[in-house]
Amino acid sequence: MAKKSIADVDVQGKVVLMRVDFNVPQDDSGVITDDRRIRMALPSIESVLKRGGKLVLMSHLGRPKGKGPEPEFTLAPTAIRLGELLQKPVAFATDSVGPDAEQKIKALKNGDVVVIENVRFNPGEKDGEPGYASKLASWGDIYCNDAFGTCHRSEASMVAVPRAMGSKPKVVGFLVAKEIQYLSDTLSNPQRPFVAILGGAKVSDKINVIKNLLSICDSVLIGGAMAYTFSLAQGGKTGKSLVEPDKVELAKELIAAAGNKLVLPSDTHCGDAFSSDCNKQVVAAGAIPDGWEGLDIGPVSAKKFADIVRTAKTIIWNGPMGVFEMPPFDAGTRAVAMAVAESSGTSIIGGGDSAAAIEQLGFADKVTHVSTGGGASLSMLEGQKFEAVEILDEA
Ligand code: AMP
Repeated sequence: MAKKSIADVDVQGKVVLMRVDFNVPQDDSGVITDDRRIRMALPSIESVLKRGGKLVLMSHLGRPKGKGPEPEFTLAPTAIRLGELLQKPVAFATDSVGPDAEQKIKALKNGDVVVIENVRFNPGEKDGEPGYASKLASWGDIYCNDAFGTCHRSEASMVAVPRAMGSKPKVVGFLVAKEIQYLSDTLSNPQRPFVAILGGAKVSDKINVIKNLLSICDSVLIGGAMAYTFSLAQGGKTGKSLVEPDKVELAKELIAAAGNKLVLPSDTHCGDAFSSDCNKQVVAAGAIPDGWEGLDIGPVSAKKFADIVRTAKTIIWNGPMGVFEMPPFDAGTRAVAMAVAESSGTSIIGGGDSAAAIEQLGFADKVTHVSTGGGASLSMLEGQKFEAVEILDEA
């Protein structure tokens, strides 16, 4: 599935339309509180600028209604932040396919960059109105997708724009290339044993991930609150733990189909309230007393999971083992994270909360790859193909 990369095309004097993910969190006064998504796109951005390309950056921010500008979702602060990071002027166009964008794109000199306004202000971004995509496409010589967080979506700037560019080069940026390398290529050709660790709040969010990973992994370890729905399926008692009774039948089917590939916790660290200073006890899995709730895997399970992880040559992890934000219920997640960090195999952390957990625990630099996309990385772990990636040129 290797795709042609931005490094493979001559960008000198060419207009590069680059779809990035500048959907950064902001506080109430519009100050960017975490600029990681901008920084992650810098390698692709700098590669184009250093080689004399004319760079047009397009992104969405938030969920505007698609009926015109909404000031709280403007990308203007991201252009300012990018200028600070690049230490050079970054132009900003107050529309995405209107006269300001057209004029600012035409005025670009080699090595210049413009951020165009939130593509989701335009109804064409969602409804696929062809005039929108073809106009945007007509301004570019090269299309580059470096917006991994949006790759599972088929909005115009992800699909219709590159399609409307016809035979012009359509490539991946460095960020998307790396995500594909780990979340797709490595997982489809893993070194074995291949172990998946799945946790988090709900089975329902990750049914297709569990099914896909059961079909390709040697072991799938289940922690987090989702383990309690499996406990119910085995006839266990779960007290007032977070469970999904409507997913019990599905959990039974998964247990029956998985054989000994599926590894469930054998003990549970419970509390009598959802707080750090609640009364606590460790009980056997499926024996959570009334009035108590499971908040983490117990120490026996943590050791069992860590031992399995240590034998793995490929590891994929998505979802914490317990309420890791609330010590001491971070212990299970910490034990598994340490085993992942110590592993000499290829270790891949799915996005979202697992990425946050591995950062919070200080192990992010000890794993092979931490994915940046929440929904996109889950979709990739489900084995889905992304149209936004499929339509790009092969290497
Ligand atoms: P997810 O987004 O599905 O990966 O879920 C992550 C969230 O699941 C985190 O905020 C955890 O606090 C929560 N979580 C994990 N285990 C439990 C548990 N046993 N009870 C309640 N919440 C949990």
